[in-house]
Amino acid sequence: MHKTNYQRIFYDIEVSPAIAWGYPPYFEFNFIKEIECQKIMSISMYNERKDEMWTTTIEEDYVPATLRSMAWSDKKIVKRIHSHLVKSYKEGDIILIGHNSDKFDIKMLNARFVYWGLDSLPYLQSDDTIKMARKSGKFASNSLDYLCTHFGIGGKIGSHAYLWEQCIMGDDDSQEWAWNKMRIYNERDVEMTVELYYKLLPYVKVTNVSKYQGSKACDSCGSTDYTARGCRPALKRFYKRYQCNICSSWFRSDKTYKTREEALSAPKGV
Ligand SMILES: [Zn+2]
Repeated sequence: MHKTNYQRIFYDIEVSPAIAWGYPPYFEFNFIKEIECQKIMSISMYNERKDEMWTTTIEEDYVPATLRSMAWSDKKIVKRIHSHLVKSYKEGDIILIGHNSDKFDIKMLNARFVYWGLDSLPYLQSDDTIKMARKSGKFASNSLDYLCTHFGIGGKIGSHAYLWEQCIMGDDDSQEWAWNKMRIYNERDVEMTVELYYKLLPYVKVTNVSKYQGSKACDSCGSTDYTARGCRPALKRFYKRYQCNICSSWFRSDKTYKTREEALSAPKGV
C-alpha cells in the first residue's frame, strides 16, 4: 500500500428497527404513533492507512435485560462514533466510503449527531460503492450481497432478521452469541465494501485524491507509480494520458499541449 496524505475510512452501520403502532395492510402509511425511532446498534470503521478496524456496539453500554426492554438510548455509542471521527480528522483528511452510504449511513449518523446535539463535523468527502456499481455497468442487482457474490468476493454471513432479533430480544446467552456475531457481521460488510471498491475503482471516477499528494499522482488512488500511455484530445488541445500501475485507473496530465506530438513527447509527471 502506497503512503497517502488522506485517510480512506470504509464503514457500515447497523441500526435497530423503528417501533410504531400501525394498521394493516399498509403499516408504513397507517402508522399512528412512533414508539422508538431507528437507533444505531453497531458500527465498523476500517481505516485503510492505519490498517485498523474499529467496531463498537450498544452491547458495550447495556445489560441484556435493558436491551430487551427496547428502552435503551444510542447516546453513548453515537458520542463514541463522533469522538472517533473527530480524532481521525485531526490525523488527516478523510474520505468515508460505504455501500449505499451517501443515502443511508451518513444521513443516519448525521441524524443522530443532530439529535444528541453534537458538534457538526467538517464537510465529509465520500464515495459510495452502490453509485460506483451503477456507473460502471448494468448488474442484476446493486446490493452489496449480490455484487460481492457475483464477483466471487463472497457474501454476507447469517440471517439479518434472526440476528437482529437475538441481539435485541434474545435471552442472556443468546444475546452473548448474537452480539459476537453482530460484530463479525458488521466487520464482514466493511471487508466486502473494501474489496468491491477496489474491484470497481478502475472503471469509474471517484473522489479525486491526487490533490492530497505532493506531486502528480493517480486521481483515484493517489499513487505516483504510473505509466504514460498516449494522449487524450480535449476541445482544442491535448492532454498527456496516464494509467496507474497500482489501481489501473486512467487519468490525464494537468498541463495541456497544442499538438498530439507535443503531448506524447512531453516529460511524464505534470
Ligand atoms: Zn491508482
